[in-house]
Order: sequence, then C-alpha cells, then structure tokens
Amino acid sequence: MSLKSFIEVQPESDFPIQNLPYGVFSTASNPKPRIGTRIGAWVVDLAMLDEEKIFNKPYGFFADPTLNRFMSAGRAAWREVRQHLTGLLSSDNSPLKNEALMSRAFIPVEEVRMHLPVAIGDYTDFYASREHAMNVGIMFRGKENALMPNWLHLPVGYHGRASSVILSGQDVRRPRGQVLPPNESSPQLLPSRSLDFELEMGFFIGTGNHLGERISAKNAHEHIFGMVLLNDWSARDIQAWEYQPLGPFLAKNFATSISSWVVTMDALEPFRVAGPIQDPAPLPYLQPFDQTQGKPDSDYGYDINLEVTLQSVSMEMAHVISRSNLKHIYWSIVQQLTHHTVTGCNMRTGDLCGTGTISGPTEGSYGSLLELTWRGEKPIALPNGETRKFLQDGDIVVMKGYCQGEGFRVGFGEVTGKILPALLIN
Ligand code: CA
Repeated sequence: MSLKSFIEVQPESDFPIQNLPYGVFSTASNPKPRIGTRIGAWVVDLAMLDEEKIFNKPYGFFADPTLNRFMSAGRAAWREVRQHLTGLLSSDNSPLKNEALMSRAFIPVEEVRMHLPVAIGDYTDFYASREHAMNVGIMFRGKENALMPNWLHLPVGYHGRASSVILSGQDVRRPRGQVLPPNESSPQLLPSRSLDFELEMGFFIGTGNHLGERISAKNAHEHIFGMVLLNDWSARDIQAWEYQPLGPFLAKNFATSISSWVVTMDALEPFRVAGPIQDPAPLPYLQPFDQTQGKPDSDYGYDINLEVTLQSVSMEMAHVISRSNLKHIYWSIVQQLTHHTVTGCNMRTGDLCGTGTISGPTEGSYGSLLELTWRGEKPIALPNGETRKFLQDGDIVVMKGYCQGEGFRVGFGEVTGKILPALLIN
C-alpha cells in the first residue's frame, strides 16, 4: 500500500504526498511572500506551521521571501523537513487535523500568487542532449562537423544571465537585436523573426563549494536541492549572427522562464534511471562512483515525461507539438555540476543550471521549433489551419513534466509564457 495523505489528491495530480515541492507564495490577505508546499489543489503555508510550532523545532526560514536560507541548510535539513511534512500530512494523529488550523494554513491554489522561488545569483546553461547538439550542428555546420570534437568528452555550457530568469506566467517581449537578414550583406537592428523556445529542466544548487575547491562526481548529487521546468527562450536569427566564436549572448539573455514549484531530488529519487551509454568513456573525474556498491554509477538519468504545447491567439485549445523525456540527455546533471566546478569555480546557494534542450531521438520529441520545423523548412501544421516556423506574437507556449509512479505522479506543474509584440521604438 503506497503512502497516502488524508488530504484528497486526484491520481492525475502532479502533487501527491510523494512530491511535496517548495515554492514562494503570497495571498490577498497576507501579501508577504513566504514558503509553502503543495498537496493536490492546496498550498500549505509552512511559515504559519512553523510559527504555530507544528514542527518538532523552529526553522525560521519558512517566513523568508526565497528558498535560499532553507537550501543552504543542507541535505540533512532538507530530508528532515520532508520527513516532518510527510508525517504531518499522513499520520492518523497529525496535529494538522484541526479544523481551525487547517482553514488558515491550507489555501486553495487559485487564491495564491506565486513568486520567483529562489534568489538566483548565477545561471549556467548546458547543451547536454546529443540529439539536440546533432540536429543544431547539422543545420548550422553540416553533417560532417555536426558534433564538435569536444562534445563527447565534456558537458558543453555557457554562463547565462540570472537577472532575466522569470516565473511561469510572465509574458515575454519579442526581443530586438542585430541580425543579418537572408540575402543581405550588412546587419540590421530588427525584432527577431525567428523566436523559439527550448524545452529544458533546471536544477538549483542547494549547498555550494569554496572558490578553488571542486565538487566531486562522488557527492555532486548531495549539492543539488531540486529541479524545475525551464524554457530557454531563444532568438535564432540573433544567435546565428552573433554566436561565433564565443557562443550565445543576446540571443538568450532576454528571458528564461521557470516553473513555480521546486521538486526536490528526494521526491525524484525513485525515478532515477541509467543514462545513455557514454562512449568514449569520460575522464575519471566525470564518472560518478557509488561508494555503497563500490562501482561506477551511471544511474543519474531521471525518467521525467515532458510535453510542449502551443496555442495561438485564434486557437481555442493548446496543441501538443513535442513529447520528450529528461532521460534522453547524454550528460547527467551530476556530471554537469562536477564539470562546472573542476576548475575551482565556486557554486553558491541558489545558482541555477539548465540542462540544455532535451530532444529525443524522434522528430516528435525535439525540444525546439528550430528542430521541429528544421529551421523553418518544415512548418508545423496547427489544428486550426495555421502553420508555424517560429513563434508569432500572442502565441502561448506551455511545458509540463511529470514522473509516473504506481498510481501517482510526481509532477512539476507547468511553465508557461506568452509572446508580446516587440516594442515599436528602437
Ligand atoms: Ca539552452
């Protein structure tokens, strides 16, 4: 018999007792942002439970407007809180089974306003899906040079922009930038004509490392607090003109959307799977090692079903344009974090890393319009007769993700964003 809460949760809900993600919310009656968890259709006010001394000891940090202090408390504290909450929401003699307390601490999800859950110091974006790297490589450089010589030896990434990480639901303004229009010899400053999304997941650093030290593949997983859905909005025409020799810059710095609830690594633990076979074998520093079993541990893939929908202004319903899965990525998040710090680069609590676009092996599983439409050569047909090469003004992109357990899901909710027209003035 699997764990059950006394709070009713529908089987298709992303938020059963097995999940218990963390987010930051406020309400009309209490506009102060504070930390909550989610169960079914309810947000549970953890600041209030802490204040009412419902936990075995006071934590204090739940009244903060970000998760950072909780994240910096470390893995033992994360596990302790999760254990407390699991007990509180499932045991027969739970102190939560009190009508007056529940009516204050449990808030219907439609009555809360969500806030960016983490104060993000630094944001790094990887490029860890072999299928995505191959597809983009073929389009930009041809089949012979698709995968760069380094790609199978290290998780490629770049340092992104933390200031423009936004919460799901916030609109995205079409960026203007320098592009070289087709058949022109000189560049122009124009609104992007090939605005795209990238289906990614993000992981948050809970505890960091000191400058000059590094995080080893053996315990990199202990530094990761949790994951969110991430849409790395990308302007392909700006990217194509600017990306050599240093990689993405303005093509990706105008907006990166994340989902509201941070799903913990403990909630995702049952859904770990082996990643793709890595050939050639990576250098030893990139090989996670399972100390309990005394052997290399490649099982740092996660079986997370992902879906992207698009809805134009004139469509009544969203239309699924891609289905993928995090398990497809070649370089695991543990390898990404390990590689990031190998030089002694210090990660800090609240830093965000993107996995890179998660494309699967089939055409319907590609994680960007660039790939789905093959750079606009094969436009997507929408059910109302419209077609898309890239995003139009008014388009709404929604990404969802969940792990399927036996009779329950551990899900992420969604990350959504609507495209607004570029500003008229330069
Ligand atoms: Ca990306």
